[in-house]
Amino acid sequence: MLIDTHTHHYLSDYENGGYDATHRAIEAGVSRMIMPNVNVGTIDALHGLAAKFPDNIYMAMGLHPTEVGDNYLSDLEYISRLLDDGKHRYVAIGEIGMDLYWDKTREQQQCDAFERQLQFAVTHNLPIIIHSRDALDRVLEIMQPYKNLRGVFHSFGGSSDDVARIRRDHDFYFGVNGIVTFKNSNLRDVLPDIGLDRLLLETDSPYLAPVPMRGRRNESAYMVHIAGHIANCMGLTIDNVARVTTLNANSLFSL
Ligand SMILES: [Zn+2]
Repeated sequence: MLIDTHTHHYLSDYENGGYDATHRAIEAGVSRMIMPNVNVGTIDALHGLAAKFPDNIYMAMGLHPTEVGDNYLSDLEYISRLLDDGKHRYVAIGEIGMDLYWDKTREQQQCDAFERQLQFAVTHNLPIIIHSRDALDRVLEIMQPYKNLRGVFHSFGGSSDDVARIRRDHDFYFGVNGIVTFKNSNLRDVLPDIGLDRLLLETDSPYLAPVPMRGRRNESAYMVHIAGHIANCMGLTIDNVARVTTLNANSLFSL
């Protein structure tokens, strides 16, 4: 059994509201999927798909850093009410963080949105799913005063040094996806520093399809290729990688 800890099958990239892609994943042995929200416009689709697979889909609620726009404060209020009303089960706050790769003009608003959502995590005692792109310094600075945060740096693509910096203050997991299968990636060299006990597998579907599917629309069923590649790099069996990363995901997200 494999768990895809980061996938967005509910987005409009998928036919049938993501039902078919989710079904294919389950058939391929990816029996659990964590689906983080993107913006307030994607919440209904996320709820709708999750309701069809109550044993397989776990939701995370949050506002993605690239979606922080003029109305982010009212967006966060809406999300806060969803977290408070308890009608849906969310296993994490996410995805949240900062992205200064696409757009630096909203850096201050992104910082504020991130910090407000860290408060949601504290209030609801939930782990966080962090999206950090060209922004690790700022992300760690904002997290610094919060000593008991737990969560994952999703789509981790940093160096061994970044792993050490993150671990100095926080006991976090690292989400590794199809990037590890790309020829031009050094991520395989960082895997020993992460260690199997802090590794989570993810696809980040519909993005970043792994080799040999690179360039296509990604989906959770392709996680088999990522798990196989990581097992190869670390000199482990795929069963071993599947077993430990599943335990890691179950433990972090209380599945
Ligand atoms: Zn994502």
